[in-house]
Amino acid sequence: MTKELRCEDVFQGCPYVGVGPDIRELMREYMEHVRDVHRVTSPTPELRIQAMVAVRERQAQVD
Ligand SMILES: [Zn+2]
Repeated sequence: MTKELRCEDVFQGCPYVGVGPDIRELMREYMEHVRDVHRVTSPTPELRIQAMVAVRERQAQVD
């Protein structure tokens, strides 16, 4: 099942969307994103929790 992590759920207005089957890989890529784009060099536990909560199952585009 493909998962996605929308940065806008954590940082409003950011268009970044991470997609992949492995939540740990998503989180690793996302932490690189927040470091590079949002200048967060040491993510707080709160930020990590927000990111975990933001991960969803990717919805099919057809209904
Ligand atoms: Zn972002």
